[in-house]
Amino acid sequence: MIIIMRPDATADQIEHVTDKLKKSGFGVHLSQGAERTVIGAIGDKSAIQLETIQMLPGVSEIVPIRKPYKLVSREFRKEDTVVQLAGGVRIGAGQKIAIMAGPCSVEGEKQFLEAAIAVKQAGAGILRGGAFKPRTSPYAFQGLGEKGLQIMAEARRQTGLPFVTEVMDTRDVELVAKYADMLQIGARNMANFNLLREVGKTKKPILLKRGPGSTVQEWLMSAEYVLSEGNNQVVLCERGIRTFETITRNTIDINAVPVVKKLTHLPVIVDPSHGTGEWDLVPAIARAGIAAGADGLMIEVHPKPDEAMSDGAQSLKPDTFVKLMGELKLVAQAVGRQL
Ligand code: PEP
Ligand code: MN
Repeated sequence: MIIIMRPDATADQIEHVTDKLKKSGFGVHLSQGAERTVIGAIGDKSAIQLETIQMLPGVSEIVPIRKPYKLVSREFRKEDTVVQLAGGVRIGAGQKIAIMAGPCSVEGEKQFLEAAIAVKQAGAGILRGGAFKPRTSPYAFQGLGEKGLQIMAEARRQTGLPFVTEVMDTRDVELVAKYADMLQIGARNMANFNLLREVGKTKKPILLKRGPGSTVQEWLMSAEYVLSEGNNQVVLCERGIRTFETITRNTIDINAVPVVKKLTHLPVIVDPSHGTGEWDLVPAIARAGIAAGADGLMIEVHPKPDEAMSDGAQSLKPDTFVKLMGELKLVAQAVGRQL
């Protein structure tokens, strides 16, 4: 349930309500909006007399949340959540659209720096790159591990751009969080609940990809795991799901963008690279993502896609990325946003 405080409720009154809820065994999460404070109380409602809470000074209303996801729901928080990265980069902040770009994998310093400088020049605001790679085959390139994180940190130093990278294992969360500005939970790990809890305990922004076989509700429940640990800095990423259609690598569920914006307060971005699997389809789906209301895009860009150690077929060359950024500017303007 949520307890909506009156606009004039004092800090003491809010504290009194939260104390009472905690004493009755509730998990308490505060959401301080521009106009009012909302207290999310997660727990067994039969443990408390609701009237005693309703009567407390400063309480306006008690509203049950019927959806299985609570803290991520629009009912809990009406205002859009803005996710803040180092260096003042913000995702979900009104008009501004966030572009994350870079190669699928960090393959070496030269390759990554070349990609990083190119995407920065093209106007990207966040670097992407994989150091721990979830590969279908155990014999395929698995990523450079910590060396890859160090290379991305060097690219951040040279470009001034923050970076997002995947963490696959609870045992690596501390290490990846030491370097990265944002932790990515890959599609294959969307329902790895221990990992979700672990990243929820960090203070780092989280990029939560949708599982290829997951419904929107399952995806939101995964986000709920992260928020339930106290980390509300979550960005959702639609990266395509598996359908009966096999002509493309995945099928982008464009519906998911407005659906998620309606159901939650979290920012949502689209990944047209994994969504299509083919570089020449990426621009159309990138444009569609922005037109549908996404708060950002994640796009794979490689200086030499033919030589990429992973996902070369879906990676844009830097010059194609520059061209796409020009197109995206126009689409963004047409829907009242900006790149
Ligand atoms: C990636 O971003 O490189 C990646 C592996 O994505 P996904 O988890 O969406 O497949
Ligand atoms: Mn990839």
